[in-house]
Amino acid sequence: MWRILTLVKDRVVLRIVKRVALAHFTLNLAAHRAWRRLRGERPFRLAGDCGRCGACCEVPSIRASRLAWYFPTARALFLAWQRRVNGFELVSVDRRTRVFTFRCTHYDPATRSCDSYDSRPGMCRDYPRLQVWSAAPAFLPGCGYRAVAGNADALIRELAVRKLDPEREAQLRRDLHLD
Ligand code: SF4
Ligand code: SF4
Repeated sequence: MWRILTLVKDRVVLRIVKRVALAHFTLNLAAHRAWRRLRGERPFRLAGDCGRCGACCEVPSIRASRLAWYFPTARALFLAWQRRVNGFELVSVDRRTRVFTFRCTHYDPATRSCDSYDSRPGMCRDYPRLQVWSAAPAFLPGCGYRAVAGNADALIRELAVRKLDPEREAQLRRDLHLD
């Protein structure tokens, strides 16, 4: 997620708590992705750039773990953490996908900036990278990033050999994330 200025509205204690949570998040994520690589999974390549639209700060969303979803106490703790530590106020819940959507109290829609950029949570730092680990990467509307297949060049050459009609080729390039 992007910034305009380096801002540090969070107070010292909160910043320390968030720093510890960030270390935990980062280690977990690194271990999880290393495990996926060991299993032979390869992420897409991240291409493009941040257009500073602020969309990723407008509706931060988190998919709840099974623990937080099925156990009321765990869910209450999870939501309290989001509210008290990350400044995320719950807006809606998607029961089908277990996704909680929030409003971030650190986000200023007028300036499209974060008032606590230095202490933003790990998930804010990881967007849009998490999408390249998805089987079907989907970026927010207007996001300047895109996912490109690791073997895009070889596939583009392969398509060229087959001399498909231009519409079909363009569709395949989109579907296979070649551009
Ligand atoms: S904490 Fe900052 S970076 Fe994260 S969603 Fe809120 S405004 Fe965006
Ligand atoms: S949605 Fe994408 S382009 Fe917009 S601010 Fe976030 S990372 Fe940048």
